[in-house]
Amino acid sequence: MAKNRKTPENRRPIAARKSQARRCKAAATAEPASSTTDIEDLAPAVPGPAAAPAALRAQLLRWYDAHRRDLPWRRASGGEEDRAYAVWVSEVMLQQTRVPVVVGYYDRWMTRWPTVRSLAAATQEEVNEMWAGLGYYRRARFLLEGAKQIVEKGEFPRTASALRDVRGIGDYTAGAIASIAFNEVVPVVDGNVVRVLSRLYAIADNPKESSTVKRFWELAGQLVDPSRPGDFNQAMMELGATLCSKTKPGCSECPVSSHCQALALSRDNPPVQVTDYPRVVPKAKPRSDFAAVSVVQIAQGLKQEDDYKKDKDDLFLLIRRPEEGLLAGLWEFPLVLVDEEKTDLINRRKEMDKYLKKLLKIDVGQKPTVILREDVGEYVHVFSHIRLTMYVELLILNLKDEVGPVCSMVHGSEKLKLVNENSVESMGLTSGIRKVYNMAKAFKLRRLSVYENDQVPTRKRSRRVKQ
Ligand code: SF4
Repeated sequence: MAKNRKTPENRRPIAARKSQARRCKAAATAEPASSTTDIEDLAPAVPGPAAAPAALRAQLLRWYDAHRRDLPWRRASGGEEDRAYAVWVSEVMLQQTRVPVVVGYYDRWMTRWPTVRSLAAATQEEVNEMWAGLGYYRRARFLLEGAKQIVEKGEFPRTASALRDVRGIGDYTAGAIASIAFNEVVPVVDGNVVRVLSRLYAIADNPKESSTVKRFWELAGQLVDPSRPGDFNQAMMELGATLCSKTKPGCSECPVSSHCQALALSRDNPPVQVTDYPRVVPKAKPRSDFAAVSVVQIAQGLKQEDDYKKDKDDLFLLIRRPEEGLLAGLWEFPLVLVDEEKTDLINRRKEMDKYLKKLLKIDVGQKPTVILREDVGEYVHVFSHIRLTMYVELLILNLKDEVGPVCSMVHGSEKLKLVNENSVESMGLTSGIRKVYNMAKAFKLRRLSVYENDQVPTRKRSRRVKQ
């Protein structure tokens, strides 16, 4: 039986963790635990999975055969390499994204790129377009880079250790592909498996600590079924994703409940609940960033400003983000980070003007070029570690004589792009940038309905609008 490790930092007095309601319930039904009782001091009354691994494997696989969900990547036909590719794509999509969302993306992806070779021939733009809305775009980039690497090498790596050499494939994905597609006896450990293992073995240590992570891998490696490793790994993940859920585990229906030490502890020590495992580690508060975002629309060849309402050939300026870091290589509207204390309108415009001048070599502050410039609202986008508040403006420029030089500058650049409205609508923008675009579009439609009533958007009128 695995022994729980205990450090001063991860000791958790039970009474301190329980809500008032749970304490009341415990007091009414059992001897209350001492306020100094530590969850790690409790001895489980069942021997645990290590005592009878063969029985646990058989029970879990029987349950999996009868109850597994019918998911498209489990239906993948073809040879081992096709299966490996299907597992790879699905596992990458499933990182950070729920199954019902992934199913649609997976089907569209596999229709367009059914093999690793077809994916390797795609462009990053096409892949980003397909990925739009799934978030964590680095995953899409790595899939494409990994596909190119595999095709260049000539064959799909067949072992977990060889798979780890492919760009973007880590321990988890390597284990999943090697065991499911190539039947290698290797484990997988993801969030669902961590939950199941921490309950089966009543492990209360911080699941994020590297020593605990190492231990989960060791335990998973001891449990994996030698004859059906891929199914066993999927069964562990399936159990964690369905019955052994975070907040409402269905222990009465669980195929391995007789091995579950957390369940045994919860029965013998009423204040303890299986949901105490794994230990909940508070997430670090995301950093707060602030940005001015300008949806820059370039009206071409207008003779005078009141022609604007008839113009259908406007172009939007997009900028490619740096190849490293957040949303690497993706397109966005001009965006400048500003300090929290400098998010007022004057400062934001000043920073944006500086940025656009550097970018396009034009002075947008010059009055004749600006047809309309108005704030359209704020939007907060939360990334895993950043809370980004975007102050969005719509800036419509009539470049007149400058349009030629600006267009040639953009066409000669890989980092700038001028696209018409149809292209913006169809291209793979991130959900945050799509939201920004929709805000500007809705604002413009409201404005155009005013223009339809012959209220021409002169700058004089624009300036009167409260910012
Ligand atoms: S008995 Fe309950 S807590 Fe234990 S593994 Fe099964 S579902 Fe999870």
